[in-house]
Parts: sequence; structure tokens; C-alpha cells
Amino acid sequence: MSESAFLRCINPDCDATFAVNQALTGCPTCGDLLDVDYDWDRLPVPKNLREFESRWSLRNEPLEFSGVWRFRQLLPFAQENQIVTIGEGQTILQQASAVARFCELPEDRLHLQYEGLNPSGSFKDNGMTAACTHAHMVGAKHAACASTGNTSASLAIFASATQMFRAIVFVGSGKISYGKLSQALDYGSKTLQLLGDFDDAMRQVQDVCREEKIYLCNSLNPFRLEGQKTIIYRVLESLRWQVPDWIVVPGGNLGNSSAFGKALHELKHLGLIDRIPRLAVINARGANTLYRLYEQQGLRWNGGRLDRQILDAFYAEMDKSGRRAATLATAIQINRPVNLKKALRSLEVCDGVVREVSDQEILDAKAQVGAGGFGCEPASAASVAGAKLLRAEGVIAPSETVVCILTGHQLKDPTATVAYHAADEEQFDRELGSHGVHAAPFANNPIVVENELHRIMEVIHGLN
Ligand SMILES: *Cc1c(COP(=O)(O)O)cnc(C)c1O
Ligand SMILES: [Zn+2]
Repeated sequence: MSESAFLRCINPDCDATFAVNQALTGCPTCGDLLDVDYDWDRLPVPKNLREFESRWSLRNEPLEFSGVWRFRQLLPFAQENQIVTIGEGQTILQQASAVARFCELPEDRLHLQYEGLNPSGSFKDNGMTAACTHAHMVGAKHAACASTGNTSASLAIFASATQMFRAIVFVGSGKISYGKLSQALDYGSKTLQLLGDFDDAMRQVQDVCREEKIYLCNSLNPFRLEGQKTIIYRVLESLRWQVPDWIVVPGGNLGNSSAFGKALHELKHLGLIDRIPRLAVINARGANTLYRLYEQQGLRWNGGRLDRQILDAFYAEMDKSGRRAATLATAIQINRPVNLKKALRSLEVCDGVVREVSDQEILDAKAQVGAGGFGCEPASAASVAGAKLLRAEGVIAPSETVVCILTGHQLKDPTATVAYHAADEEQFDRELGSHGVHAAPFANNPIVVENELHRIMEVIHGLN
């Protein structure tokens, strides 16, 4: 099987290919990103997506139980006995009527895909199971990542649950939420709190991994993206294989945006879907590299020959002016998205759009997801805020079916949630004020009540 899967450079002027049993996170020839690619003609691909349904009855088989590996014919780079799984991908698509009303969509048109239901509480487990499988294939003993929190939590849980390798995680200082930091520590990973931000950690971990031959698990790693393709398969599965009109996803390092376009392109190529949904990638306004480049400066994939001048001038200006990403949605607080090029390719494949939303809009949308669904962390709610914006602009029509990807669990970042709902103005301002959040229209304030029955009764009777 391994010869029908290979690595391919995304640069069309290079187009180099490499065997999958190498640990490469960039093209050795030109330095560009790599794809995992397949010779589909030589692989057993299902004729119809419904064929996957027969797997549901085999839930005590680990590879069928996994919401990632159930679809292994669509990411066939590993032998079955090499696959590393901890039961990831058991996630749910909810038709969310209340959140639909918030977005001014008909009640049956908005669906929320809860990737926070993964073992470590974020979508990252979809990709990490694939990266860990590849790490196992190449015999890695140490694996590392840089993280705004969730990647490290995911790598850490795979290391602790499988005991197959040691994990080393690099986190920036200050910005990481306690929920996420606590996971890396609790799962026993070596945790380096770098005195710098995520982009600094990203740069350092790449050098360290190169020097020390440590396996790198960031989404530069093309195997991560193979696992993340399955988010799309599960969305389609939950919609009974009907293709929605829109997929809306928060954009940070743009791994999901890249993986979704690849998944959809491959499904179309294999004749398993007849049309491709549109993709909307939502940046936080304080971390809007993709928005600026794509929507404001017109940067396009252009067959893999991007306008380097736009890109170089953009980053030169960012460095010169000292502009650094700043948003409450820490999971997408990223200056230089590593998968930018692949995301541009996805935007082309999916006739995509990019939008930016403010932290105020993100927290308001998050409160709605909490009150009308299972909740999510701030970065995830960017998708819902983005869907609301695109609906208001008329880009999303009222008749269209929209799926918002909720990337992380509600419990990941309780500080922002409690501050938003706080009755205490000082607490609200301390946590949220510097992010331009000044109102909480959907706050559910806790009620302070004296320790006396009749006082409590007064409060209860006052509820409507
Ligand atoms: C990592 C992460 C993101 C960003 O995803 P990318 O694929 O890097 O764009 C968004 N939300 C949450 C909760 C995350 O953990
Ligand atoms: Zn190359």
C-alpha cells in the first residue's frame, strides 16, 4: 500500500515527490509545504460514501470506532497495524435553532459541528492521530510541537495514552489558557514555556526538531491535515451525505482550511460528491493575516505561483511596524499562518471567502452557542460570528445550509466565559476591556444572594 501514497511538494515548479516513510515537514528541494498524495487508481476506494455506514456496527474494533480511521480508505498512507488511535473523532453535528435565529438563518439551516468532543477537547486530535501514526511508522521516540494550547494538549494525551513516545511541547508565555496548559502538565509532557509568543515558539521548535531529529507535530506536518480531512467526512455523514452550501471555520494556522479543501477536492475527484460547498475562513480582527492578504490585497493561489511580492511586503511591514496578533481567541492568535499557501488553494477549490470578526462579536456568538447548544471556546465561536456577518452581507442566502465548525470545548478557556457573564464590572473590564469588549448583551449574570431562605425565595419568584 505504501507505494500508492507519497509526499508531494505543493510548488508546481518543483513538484518533487518523496516516500511516506520519511519524516519531512517541508520540501528538501525547495523548502515549500508538502502534501500527502495518493495514486488513487491503485487503491480500493469506496464507490459510494454510504459504504462507510456498514462500519457503524463494528464499534468494538478500534479502527472502526475511531471517527478518523473509519474513513481510512480516504487517507490510506498507513498499514492497519501501524495506526495509533485513542478513540478520536466521536463528534456531533447539531442542528442549532437558537443559534440559527441569532445568525438570521431559518432554524433548520444552521448546523454546529462539535469538534471539542474529542478526547483532548479540540479538533486537533483528528490530526494528531494521523501524525502519531506516521511517527510510529518512522520509529520516532520523541515528538514535539509549538502550541497556543490545544496542539500541546492533543500531543500530550496521545503520548500519555499510548506510551509510545515522549512529548515535548513549546508554549508561548502568558496567553495560553489554564485549561490547555493544565492538560500538557497533567498528561506528563515536557512543557517549555518560551519567553515569546506562538510564532517564536513555532520557529524554535522547527530548529530544535531539525537539529535533534525529533518528530514535529505542528500542522506543517502534512499527515496532521490528512486526519483533519475526516471532519468533513463526518459532517457529510451527519447530513446523510448531502453536501451543505457553506462550511465556516475559524482560521489560525489554517490547517483546517487547508485540510477541508483537500478533502473536498479529493471527494469530487473520486466521484463521491457531485459539488463542492463554499468555504468561509474567519479570522479574529486582531490576527487577520489571511483576511488582509486575500480580501484586501487580492493574494491568490494562482496555480501555486503566488505573488511573492505581496507576501514579502506584507510580512516586512508587519515586522517593521511591530504589529503582533492580539485577540481573546488565543487559539487563532497567529501572525504568520504556516499553511497560508494551502489555505489559498482551498479558497480557490471552494470558491471561498475570508472575513474578520471582532472579539466582541466572537464573545457574543460564543454566548449564543452556549445558550443554544453545547458551548465552545472563544476561537471556535469566530465561525458563528462569521456566519452571522456573511448572512448580514447577503453573501450567505437565507435558503442556504451552513455548517459552522466548533473547534474547541467550552471548558478550555473558562476565564473569558466567566468574565463575560460576570456581574462584577471590574472583573469584566480587567479580562475583556483591553480587547475592545465593552458590552455583554447575552450575559447571564450570577445572582449574589444572602444566605437566607426568604431572600432566596424572592429571587426565585422574581425569575420569569
Ligand atoms: C488550533 C485551533 C484553531 C485554529 O485552527 P487552524 O487549523 O490552525 O486554522 C481554531 N480553534 C481552536 C480551538 C484551535 O485549537
Ligand atoms: Zn519543492
